[in-house]
Amino acid sequence: MPCVFCEIVAGRAPAHIIEQDDLALCILDINPFAEGHCLILSKRHVPWWHDLTDDEIGTVFRMAKGVANRLRDVYSSEFVCLYARGRRIPHTHIFLVPTTKGDALDGFFNELEKFLAVAAKKIRRDD
Ligand SMILES: [Zn+2]
Repeated sequence: MPCVFCEIVAGRAPAHIIEQDDLALCILDINPFAEGHCLILSKRHVPWWHDLTDDEIGTVFRMAKGVANRLRDVYSSEFVCLYARGRRIPHTHIFLVPTTKGDALDGFFNELEKFLAVAAKKIRRDD
């Protein structure tokens, strides 16, 4: 089965393309966490972002910064969450999700922070 992101890069699968250059492509996520949730894809099929070349990393993260600043302006978000993935679809993709205090993503990370505090206590053996 072909990689869906390679199919999008090749123009054989549909996507809402935001921008692209020689090494990277920005599209809207089809299962968004929030309106405006974008993905930055490397054009080359590489599962993990840290296996990209320095040129690809520079391009992917410069594009992420530019799109994140536009998302912040358009959605008046406090922050744009960035998350690098490559497991479910084994092709580097960077999540960019506009986030504001109290939204679902903020709540998710607030829950994780509670979990981390418990884990830190266990690891330190404070009991
Ligand atoms: Zn691919």
